[in-house]
Amino acid sequence: MTAPTARPYNFSAGPAVLPEEVLREAAAEMLDWHGSGMSVMEMSHRGREFISIYEQAERDVRELLAVPEHYRILFMQGGGLGENAIVPLNLSHRLPEAKVDFVITGSWSQKSHKEARRYCDAQIAASNEGVGAANHTAMPAPSGWQLRDGLSYVHICSNETIHGVEFAQWPDLQSLGCDAPLVVDCSSHILSRPIDWSRVGLAFAGAQKNIGPAGVTLVFVRDDLIGHALSVCPSAFDYQIVAANQSMFNTPPTYAIYIAGLVFQWLKRGGGVAAMEARSLEKSTLLYDTIDNSDGYYVNRVAPDCRSRMNVPFFLHDESLNEAFLAGARQHGLLQLKGHKSVGGMRASIYNAMPLDGVRSLVGYMREFAARHG
Ligand SMILES: *Cc1c(COP(=O)(O)O)cnc(C)c1O
Repeated sequence: MTAPTARPYNFSAGPAVLPEEVLREAAAEMLDWHGSGMSVMEMSHRGREFISIYEQAERDVRELLAVPEHYRILFMQGGGLGENAIVPLNLSHRLPEAKVDFVITGSWSQKSHKEARRYCDAQIAASNEGVGAANHTAMPAPSGWQLRDGLSYVHICSNETIHGVEFAQWPDLQSLGCDAPLVVDCSSHILSRPIDWSRVGLAFAGAQKNIGPAGVTLVFVRDDLIGHALSVCPSAFDYQIVAANQSMFNTPPTYAIYIAGLVFQWLKRGGGVAAMEARSLEKSTLLYDTIDNSDGYYVNRVAPDCRSRMNVPFFLHDESLNEAFLAGARQHGLLQLKGHKSVGGMRASIYNAMPLDGVRSLVGYMREFAARHG
């Protein structure tokens, strides 16, 4: 393989940076996968070549996240927002009252709640919505959640990509006296920490943040939660049908699954989820320390124990310098740092594939910029 040339560091929130090694592997295999004479894009999803790619990817992600045997892993389409409808279509009428509670922690859980209301009695058990700069800046403590009885499930977003708040621990609903399954949208921090499956009924993640290309959505679902879909649920989105067909009821996003599989292999070579967690802690600590030690030049408003290790929003104290900051960053090979339009300021997304050197480079630039424009 050719020696890596210096590519810029890409801090996009998603679709996001992929490991350079994976991109090079995919490039080398583009025209001829393992002597098959075909690109992965050209293969039948039912042929033995693609089946082997699929089975390896599933085995690897099961191993990386220690997914127990009684959970199915589905490779679906429709993205995170698709699951906002697919989950209630499959799960909300598990119990006849069709009651579902949501914990609102930022834009993504808000969207999930709004979509679920089309299918069931979806209410808000807790929210961190605030006014102005205090909006979505701390996770509501589970002890204060107003969970109803007889819920089909409880939905949370474990890492809010836009607001940069993250659950350091996923809640243990049983200890709160709630026996409903927990549904987790973990799109933007999957594979950056281990998952305690005893607390989870279903977890889903769009791939384009921490797994691979947009187009494939991973769904981890406990066996007993399969088989409750509404009759209007599209067959291609019915977990029972998808599971019974090994995610091949219809043609799956084959190339996206292949790249995800290369990322899983890369993760395994790099020490797995435990290594990613240690590295994420190191990278995010470096960035938050730089912000906190800048004498207010840079500000992050999230409560320290709720700060995301993946998505770091921050503001310049003098917002008239935003454009100069971004232009200088691009010149330094630091791309896509502009904050989400609903929050403003800057956002650095530092997913698994962002090397520590990328964050070192960013904080070096931030210090230099602050010194020059003090
Ligand atoms: C990006 C993201 C989504 C949206 O995924 P789509 O693939 O665009 O539907 C959902 N949830 C979270 C937490 C995200 O970060």
